[in-house]
Amino acid sequence: MALQLLTLLLPAAALLVGAGVALLSVAQLSGTQQEMLGLLPYLLVIVAGTLGVGFKRGRVLLAALNLGGAYLLIQTSLQTSLARPDNYVLFSLLSLLLPLNFALIAWYKERGVLTWVGCARVVGVLLGYAVLFALKQSGELAYWLPSLPTSMIEMAFAQTFLSDAAAWAFGVSLLPVLLSLGLRKTHADAGILAAWGAALVMLVWFDQAMISSLFVSAALLALSVSVVQNSYNMAFIDELTGIPARRALRDKLATLGKQYTIAMMDIDHFKKFNDTYGHDVGDQVLRMVAAKINQVRGGGKAYRFGGEEFTVVFAGKEEHEAEPFLEEVRQIIANYPMRIRGDQRPKDNETGKQRRNEGSESEIVTVTISIGAAHKQDTHANPDAVIKSADQALYQAKGAGRNQTVISTQPKVAEPKPRKSTARRSKRDYARR
Ligand code: GH3
Ligand code: MG
Ligand code: MG
Repeated sequence: MALQLLTLLLPAAALLVGAGVALLSVAQLSGTQQEMLGLLPYLLVIVAGTLGVGFKRGRVLLAALNLGGAYLLIQTSLQTSLARPDNYVLFSLLSLLLPLNFALIAWYKERGVLTWVGCARVVGVLLGYAVLFALKQSGELAYWLPSLPTSMIEMAFAQTFLSDAAAWAFGVSLLPVLLSLGLRKTHADAGILAAWGAALVMLVWFDQAMISSLFVSAALLALSVSVVQNSYNMAFIDELTGIPARRALRDKLATLGKQYTIAMMDIDHFKKFNDTYGHDVGDQVLRMVAAKINQVRGGGKAYRFGGEEFTVVFAGKEEHEAEPFLEEVRQIIANYPMRIRGDQRPKDNETGKQRRNEGSESEIVTVTISIGAAHKQDTHANPDAVIKSADQALYQAKGAGRNQTVISTQPKVAEPKPRKSTARRSKRDYARR
């Protein structure tokens, strides 16, 4: 879980650190370069916004608009000293609006973009900035200063620009942002956290030249990257088990060289398992089995082939090199006692291979897998043919009693001496079949 959060946050963190580093050298930029940097956030709002709309990531769009609205307001209305009363009031209000919006965006459920709710949220995010802009233009804000609460005037920390109230607003808004990230673990949530962080840095050190351009740009890039990463995951990562999916296997097969071994794995009697324990427990088992297969050693790469079938690809390895690692996975799964909750108990007493623990609140069950593996040989025209050989070996493993590994016995064309037969190696007699 910690590793999952780390990978989610890594691109966003790198972008924010990059913005911080760039801030140190921004003074060396020419006037034209600084002008261009100032325009970058507008371009990136369009990029992040378009990605959000195109990939139906409403919260990414809203976070981009929240940053975009704030940036536009800063560029149009806050380019003179904060010592001016109207500027100070505007800054103080802006530093409340930004985190408040992020809290709402983090808390929102994804409800689409081009829907009534989606449009209302867009208006909601932008309305605050439009109102602040109009107030600034009207000249009203300067008169508000005496009536502002002291918490909006006093700075939370020395040498910074964040008022007490704004510091609280950022602190409180961090809760829904972190909660959403912890519970949903989506790339969008990592992007929203990055946007929250960028907004905070920008307001705390508001007097630094180009800080808003740099940090808003970094956050908008993080949001854009989150959409791209999410769509990559949707295409290449299996949703149920979290391991690479069939499409990722296709890509892997296309990159293989002359030597590789492919193993096909299939859970034994899984239909019966589902019938006995229910589909939900079946899914739980699929996740456990996938996690174990995913930990295969020896350089094997695991994929969910579909249903209760998995594939492991060993690039550059012969079958006899891969076999011990396959056997290891098979044994780990067969010996793994899986606890299922009491309310998911078997519906009948016929549990096949599954052990049960009568009388206890939870059940201990075990599952086994069968494995067939084949090595690329000259007779194989392509990886699909190797998969087919591995499938045939898997079929043999099933026929020979399941819970075992069978290596394809297809003779190597270039090698006159027959390879060690599977029967000899694993003392199994397939002739009976
Ligand atoms: P064998 O040992 O010969 O492989 O028997 P089996 O019952 O595993 O084989 P079969 O192919 O007949 O059944 C596969 C079952 O896998 C059918 C389906 O109920 C189950 N299955 C496939 N995908 C999923 C899934 O995503 N979730 C759950 N819970 N079950 C699945
Ligand atoms: Mg099957
Ligand atoms: Mg099966």
